[in-house]
Amino acid sequence: MSGVYLYQNRLLPQEEVHISPEDRGYYFGDGIYEVFRVYNGRLYEADAHMRRLQKSAADVRIELPSEPEQLLHQLVELVAANRLTEGTVYLQITRGEASRSHPFPKAAAPVLMAFTNVLPRPLAAVQSGISIVSMDDIRWLRCDLKTLNLLPNVLAKQHALDRGAGDVVMHRGGTVTECSASNIMIVMGGRIVTHPANNLILHGITRAVVLRLANELEIAAEERPFTLSELMEADEVFITGTTAEITPVIAVDGATIGGGTSGPVTRKLQQAFERSIEAL
Ligand code: PMP
Repeated sequence: MSGVYLYQNRLLPQEEVHISPEDRGYYFGDGIYEVFRVYNGRLYEADAHMRRLQKSAADVRIELPSEPEQLLHQLVELVAANRLTEGTVYLQITRGEASRSHPFPKAAAPVLMAFTNVLPRPLAAVQSGISIVSMDDIRWLRCDLKTLNLLPNVLAKQHALDRGAGDVVMHRGGTVTECSASNIMIVMGGRIVTHPANNLILHGITRAVVLRLANELEIAAEERPFTLSELMEADEVFITGTTAEITPVIAVDGATIGGGTSGPVTRKLQQAFERSIEAL
């Protein structure tokens, strides 16, 4: 995190970005965000990310400071200004600056800032897979909104790392929802199963890409809730996310999944995903 920032409508060096301690994002987490992937200097699935941002903004009643097309154009300029080839763009918009009081402030204007991160592709994890541990999903009931309130996700990720795992798989009463920063899919008898895109999960852009690729490859996919026991008995398990891409899961709570390596359906999807990056 350094270099040129997008702050409101301008590209500025980081040193010139001054965000107030009275920004509602700081004390209420009153804001929304997006993380875009950049491959080869280009934004991947930019329109889908922008649509999700618009949905998050509308549902928490924050007005986007600029039109989506203009914002997208500014992000392209931000990527160019930072000479980013492989990495991410983080964008957040808060409800703005006002003295601390719960009601929406009448005078505050949204505060937008975005920066880039250099991030190599997760090739080792994509190849060898990760192990995950299960944990109660303690989040609120609007997990479909990408808001700044990520404390449960932060605690979940640390829970995994403390146990030597790569991530957690969260569940509500035994029904699997998603991971701390990715969606999760299982493969049973050649069919993909993943939680429906409702209020209990983030509607992952990579999740949608994978479902689209599965359709193109004529791999059956079902969007329905599945249980922890189905997860443990699955032939293959993988997670999907902007930074995780398609990462195989090789163990859950210490028990090996499938053969303990990436399975054939996962590999087919990974290859198709690879082609979608090359076509960018
Ligand atoms: N679920 C959660 C909780 C996330 O934070 C993310 C990362 N944005 C995802 C799923 C995956 O979504 P995407 O594929 O859009 O990165």
